Amino acid sequence: MNTGCNISLWMDLLDDSLQARPSLQADIQADVAIIGAGYTGLWTAYYLKRHAPQLRIVILEGETAGFGASGRNGGWLMGNLLGEDRLLTGLSPAQRKASFELLHGIPDEVAEVIAREGIDCDLRKGGVLYCAARYPEQEVRLREYLAHLRALGLGDEDYRWLMPNELAEQLHVANANGALYSPHCATIQPAKLVRGLARCVAGMGVELYERSPVIDWQPGLVRTEKAHVTADWVVPAIEGYATTLPPFGNHQLPVQSLIVASEPLSADTWAGIGLARGQAFSEFSRQVTYGQRSLDDRLIFGARGGYRFGGGLRSDFNLTDGELALRRYLIGEIFPQLRNVRFTHSWGGNLGMARRFKPHMLRDRGNRIALSGGYGGEGVGASNLGGRTLADLILGRDSELLRQPWVLSDSPVARLSRWEPEPCRWLGYNAIIRSFVHEDAVLANPRSAVWRRRLAQALAARLERLMC
Ligand SMILES: Cc1cc2nc3c(=O)[nH]c(=O)nc-3n(C[C@H](O)[C@H](O)[C@H](O)COP(=O)(O)OP(=O)(O)OC[C@H]3O[C@@H](n4cnc5c(N)ncnc54)[C@H](O)[C@@H]3O)c2cc1C
Repeated sequence: MNTGCNISLWMDLLDDSLQARPSLQADIQADVAIIGAGYTGLWTAYYLKRHAPQLRIVILEGETAGFGASGRNGGWLMGNLLGEDRLLTGLSPAQRKASFELLHGIPDEVAEVIAREGIDCDLRKGGVLYCAARYPEQEVRLREYLAHLRALGLGDEDYRWLMPNELAEQLHVANANGALYSPHCATIQPAKLVRGLARCVAGMGVELYERSPVIDWQPGLVRTEKAHVTADWVVPAIEGYATTLPPFGNHQLPVQSLIVASEPLSADTWAGIGLARGQAFSEFSRQVTYGQRSLDDRLIFGARGGYRFGGGLRSDFNLTDGELALRRYLIGEIFPQLRNVRFTHSWGGNLGMARRFKPHMLRDRGNRIALSGGYGGEGVGASNLGGRTLADLILGRDSELLRQPWVLSDSPVARLSRWEPEPCRWLGYNAIIRSFVHEDAVLANPRSAVWRRRLAQALAARLERLMC
């Protein structure tokens, strides 16, 4: 059965023709030229217009707004950043507290904007459940992670351990040994957010040109096939597509993540699962699983995909039998009653991974660019923070947003960590993923000997640390 779809289930569900806006036909001059109409580009345009309505802002989108990861993701709107524990480690407790408050406030900031602007994106702030399931080692790792969060100063109000009976009040997962619950997460219908944001900024006077891929840039200038834009600032907001526009691909590689969606499930089925408040959920393996119950009662479930040699983009997201089978297997392990559930949709997308596995928000005065990215699969909330931060960097506004360890206020792009040349990237990435897959297979097999379990874990953990 081919469960593929054009872009994503989310786009299919829209009451929106996805008719492309006009493309750029003539040379123009602007204050800010943004490349890419995903969340990062659109949030940047939104906050720039809020603070400085007089600015002429142009967005050039290669396809249509939301074509990238923003129209395809799993809909976790998280109040944190990838690698935040490493980013915040060196700060004083007071600074760290302020940074965590900023991060934890992201879902509420998005909720406030969408309420103000009339964007309905099914936002429900039900928090997130990281479940210790499938095998006992998940509990050990999850409790270690909680201890680490505690050492960073986070308390029960931010992350709380749930015993299996407490977890069962929210979610029924097979073989659960407990879960970590955080309230700082909401779920959304991603395409509704990105398409709503595009309409919103267009209504504010931002000029959005679609089917206008940028083929080249230099300080103060971006070029499409037909015309160019001169601008004081350029914002390359192309996250998973950075390899298409040098030199950004040296710092940010495309990685794919893949999702399936079930048919809408009955009220009885959901009564046996839970997730009644729009909670996001995951099990704590290194397969990077993520799920939610959509507002129309589907199970949405994703897991890590792959990396292509040379940073090649993936455009065909008809999942292979093997890719579908892995997701079905994981769903069946977590929810045995859904082992044979019907998938109606499957899709995926390219996301951007920075070399040190932590995001950056940067202003490069020499090249007149402002850049936010490297979200590494956790960009739904991070891109809102990125948009706010880039607006302040461009406008020279002094704000708390700029006093954060992920912000490089005046730094050449070249100072971002570079990925190693091929074939090192491909070999390294695949060695790591193979170690994760091997670890998962060993740990999921109750007959695996203790020494094999320990060895598989040690190898995966070692390689994971090497990556960062
Ligand atoms: C399958 C999947 C699941 C995910 N799940 C989650 C999740 O649940 N929670 C979470 O926080 N994050 C998730 N992410 C990551 C998140 O979706 C992204 O980090 C976020 O959407 C990035 O937004 P962006 O605007 O920076 O990039 P994108 O949304 O990718 O936008 C970039 C845009 O630039 C355009 N473009 C590219 N090159 C050019 C060019 N040369 N000229 C003009 N336009 C160009 C593209 O067409 C695209 O529209 C997921 C990602 C994927 C792929």
